[in-house]
Parts: sequence; C-alpha cells; structure tokens
Amino acid sequence: MTHRVAIVGAGPSGFYAADGMLRARPDLHIDIIDRLPTPYGLVRAGVAPDHQGTKAIVRQFERLLAQPDVRFAGNLEIGRDLTWDELNEAYDAVIVATGMTIDRRLGIPGEDLPHVWGSWRFVAWLNGHPDFRTGPDLSAVRSVAVIGNGNVALDVARLLAKSPEEMARSDIVPEAGAAIAAAPLTDIYVIGRRGPEHASFTNNELAEMGRLTRAVAVTDAAGLDAAPPASDPTPERLRKAKNLDILKGFAANQAGAKPLTVHFLFGAAPVAIHAAEIELSTGRLPADLVVTCIGYEGLPFPRREDVFPVGWARRGPTGTIPTNRAESHAVAQEVLAFLKERDPKSGPDILPAAIDAAGWHRIDKQEVAAGAAAGRPRVKLTDWQALLDVAQAD
Ligand SMILES: Cc1cc2nc3c(=O)[nH]c(=O)nc-3n(C[C@H](O)[C@H](O)[C@H](O)COP(=O)(O)OP(=O)(O)OC[C@H]3O[C@@H](n4cnc5c(N)ncnc54)[C@H](O)[C@@H]3O)c2cc1C
Repeated sequence: MTHRVAIVGAGPSGFYAADGMLRARPDLHIDIIDRLPTPYGLVRAGVAPDHQGTKAIVRQFERLLAQPDVRFAGNLEIGRDLTWDELNEAYDAVIVATGMTIDRRLGIPGEDLPHVWGSWRFVAWLNGHPDFRTGPDLSAVRSVAVIGNGNVALDVARLLAKSPEEMARSDIVPEAGAAIAAAPLTDIYVIGRRGPEHASFTNNELAEMGRLTRAVAVTDAAGLDAAPPASDPTPERLRKAKNLDILKGFAANQAGAKPLTVHFLFGAAPVAIHAAEIELSTGRLPADLVVTCIGYEGLPFPRREDVFPVGWARRGPTGTIPTNRAESHAVAQEVLAFLKERDPKSGPDILPAAIDAAGWHRIDKQEVAAGAAAGRPRVKLTDWQALLDVAQAD
C-alpha cells in the first residue's frame, strides 16, 4: 500500500508539486485532475501564443506524465463531477492547484458594456480555451484601451499590434488572428493608474513593444525622471530603472510614424466607460474596445489539514511560472511530512472515466499535425466535443 495524492489543477503549480513529491517519494501514487481535457493550465490558455519559448516548459511536465504512478484525469471538474469531500475521503492528501480564472472588476460605471472585456476572457479566446470560443467583434475597432501595467497588459497590446507576419509562427487561434489582422486598428492605449516607476512590466516584454513592425510605441517624457521607490529590493529597483530607460526611448518616437501607435499613459485612473470612449482622471480617450488587465480571482476550496493549496490558488494571481516551482516544492515537503505521520488509506479508486494522458496525446498529435501543414507549432482544437472525440478515438 502506498499513499495516494490528488492534485486538482494540471497547471504549472500542480506539476511542480508532483515533481517535488516524487523526488523524495517515487513510490507515491499521484492523480493530476483537470476540468479541461488538456493539461498545462495557463501555459496553454494564458501565456501569449507568440511566446512559444515560454510554453516549452511543458516538456518537463510531459516527463512527469510519463511516470508509471502518475495519472492524468482530464475533463473532470472537482465540485461538479466529484465533490471535494469525496476526494478527501479517498486520498491521503489533496493539493489544490486550481489557479484563478475570474477577471477582477474595475468597479466603475460602464464596465458591463459589451465592448469591455476582461483579459482572461480575451486571452483565453486567442489561446483556444473551449469555454471562450467567441471573441469581441473587432471589425470596426480603431482604438483600444488596455487597462493595467503588468505583463498581461503588454501581452494584450502586443497581440493586437503585431502584424500577421509576426504572428505567423504562433499558435493563435486562426479566427482570432484573422479578426485582428482585419481590424482597422490605429491606436492602442496602455493605461496605468500610477507613475511609470511603479509599473510591473518586465524589461524584455516592455522592450519588445519598441520592436514591432507595424506599431510604434510612444509615451510622454514627463515623469520618466522619477526614481524607483528606494524601499524596493535591489532587483526590483534595477527592473524599474531599466523600464524607465526603455520608456525614455519610446518618448523619442513620433505617434503615427507607423500604421499603429501604442501609447503608454501613466497616472491615469479609469473613472467611467462609455460606448466608444473611456473616461480617465486625466481626460477622455476614444475606445471601441476596452480590455481590463487588473488581476484575477479564484473559486473557494475547502480549508482543512489534509488540503494543501499551491500556485495562484494559494498566493493570488502574481508571479511567473518559475515562481510556482520553489513554492510548490516547499508545499510538497509539507505534504510529505504530513503523510509520514499517517498510514495510507485503503479504499476503491473513485475516479470516474476521464481523459487520460494517452487521450491528451491524441489531441496533441492532431493539433501539431494541423499546425505543421500551416507552418505553425499547432492549431488548437477549441470545441469541447471535438476535443473529447479526438481524445477518446481509438
Ligand atoms: C494572460 C497570462 C499570461 C501569462 N504569461 C506568462 C508568461 O509569459 N510567463 C510566465 O512565466 N508566466 C506567465 N503567466 C503566469 C503563469 O501563467 C502563472 O504563474 C501560472 O500559470 C500559475 O499556475 P497555477 O498552476 O497556479 O494555475 P493555472 O495555470 O491557472 O492552472 C490551474 C488549472 O486548474 C484547473 N482547474 C481549475 N478549477 C478546477 C476544478 N474545479 N477542477 C479541476 N480542475 C480545475 C484549470 O483548468 C487549470 O488547468 C501568465 C498569466 C496570464 C493570466
């Protein structure tokens, strides 16, 4: 008899937790459960489709799925197909790696208008999440307001600003790519409430905005001499100082020098959203589409001694994929210490029929083959039934 651990959520933090536990206890039986028929969480559904290098992390996770006592169980939603109580009864420990997938709200008038999109919904559409197959109507969108000063705001602005040629080697859903290519876009405003010295952009992602073929990045030189807060730890101060340097480069650019202009605006708090405008504390701007990139919320899960949250479910929607590694490994140690004090539970396998790793590999193979024909890494299946049909085909 060996201990059995359920990991709910097949994103990075769930896989890193499995990795941390297996390093010390290769005999453990681990079930990695996800509501989607596909694993990898936001690596598949969130990370931008033109950043394939970041998505390459899944090769490490694939190796874990190949371990004999690790099972993937996709298309199984905890809270719907099985209750949390059922899991707790059957497993010696439960790790919650469910992430955060609800767009945080701005709390201003007009945010429920149809042209206002949360970044989760928007990016999930571009990335082929089967719950989000419909995107915004871009056919008459000239100006876009992107609210937020983190990397997700940069992802949204960049994906709208890149040319079809720049997106050619991405795995953006083809319909989304075609809709962006056909949109009459001229201006994208990236809007931050605070000053540029507080922006949480990372340097590489901000610098990339200055290298786009059909878009020029601009900003106002005023405010760029501010110093990053002295109270920040050194790496943060260096990152922010470098961001200010990059922005100074943007301040020397001319709006309109290319077909599309990406404007970085700081110290501008959103006040209200109107049909084709956004009202900021600094004035009004045209906005046929508004995308909010201000963070996410998660769903509740049980808090008990045999339930161990990791990743975004544990600490909120901050941190990159590598941030999850150290934290999940630390939680894995807590789980192992907890198991050490307990005999393994006996009882039947409670998992209902689900999409296993072989099913996921059938989806993967089909998507990669469809991509190869188009010179892309993959063309994703976005329809639930199509995903299930391919996964379950013999
Ligand atoms: C738009 C966007 C872009 C990003 N880009 C980058 C980037 O370029 N580089 C980088 O390092 N980081 C990036 N990140 C951050 C990175 O994606 C996160 O740090 C990481 O994915 C968090 O991992 P997680 O495992 O906690 O959650 P997730 O990756 O969200 O995984 C959670 C999983 O749980 C599943 N799930 C949820 N509820 C249930 C349930 N009830 N039952 C079963 N399964 C369930 C979900 O389907 C999902 O697969 C980005 C994030 C976003 C939102």
